[in-house]
Amino acid sequence: MRIVRCSAHGQASYGVVRDEEVHLLDRSPFGVEEPVETGRVVALEEATLLTPTEPSTIYAIGRNYSEHAKEMGYQLTGTPSVFLKPRSSLLPPGGTVVLPPPSASKQVQHEAELVIVIGKAARNVSEADALSYVAGYTCADDVTARDLQRSDTNPTRGKGYDTFCPLGPWVETELDPSALTVRCRVNGELRQDGNTADLLFPVPFIISWFSSWSTLLPGDVILTGSPHGTGDLADGDSVEIEIGGIGTLTHRVVASR
Ligand code: MG
Repeated sequence: MRIVRCSAHGQASYGVVRDEEVHLLDRSPFGVEEPVETGRVVALEEATLLTPTEPSTIYAIGRNYSEHAKEMGYQLTGTPSVFLKPRSSLLPPGGTVVLPPPSASKQVQHEAELVIVIGKAARNVSEADALSYVAGYTCADDVTARDLQRSDTNPTRGKGYDTFCPLGPWVETELDPSALTVRCRVNGELRQDGNTADLLFPVPFIISWFSSWSTLLPGDVILTGSPHGTGDLADGDSVEIEIGGIGTLTHRVVASR
């Protein structure tokens, strides 16, 4: 099942995609009560898609593919390298990433990532049970001001600018996350071509580990890290994040005006 959130009839609604149509739901599917279909339908092509979930927290793990850690010059320690992104960094599918002014950052990069969407509150969850807390999976670009990430003492600002978390286009609920292709194209050119089979910390471990110190809430997201091949973004770029079994998230890039 594919879950979207879209702007329809003057309000934001969740919906289920079937046969190129969005069947609107009466409530969030990431809550305690089961949603029901309202009977209202919007053509997928005409729907204005929003981020497919409204997370209370955007968790992220870095250095989770050895080739990417190598290209960044990081030492792997065996402990997950984690950070949070602000909610104000969220960007809907088809949105536009706004680069910081050059006086603030001169190097902004793309990072194609599989995203876990949490389906029910998770605290101290075992790896064996972890996948039962997942609502589904979506795509993100963990947009990063690399120069700020390197110059600051922690990655918050470099990862946290407004628009730096394009998310979507939908949540795919029926998916095995263990071996999915993770690709990024910029202006049609293939820049990243990885596979979640190479995750240093796989999905069940990630959920179990984050839940060992924080309660993961329904609708929360965890960005699982980026394969190698991250590269610079520039004014006018068109970016596609494609994950096998999910689909393609697109966004554009503009310079700050
Ligand atoms: Mg990342």
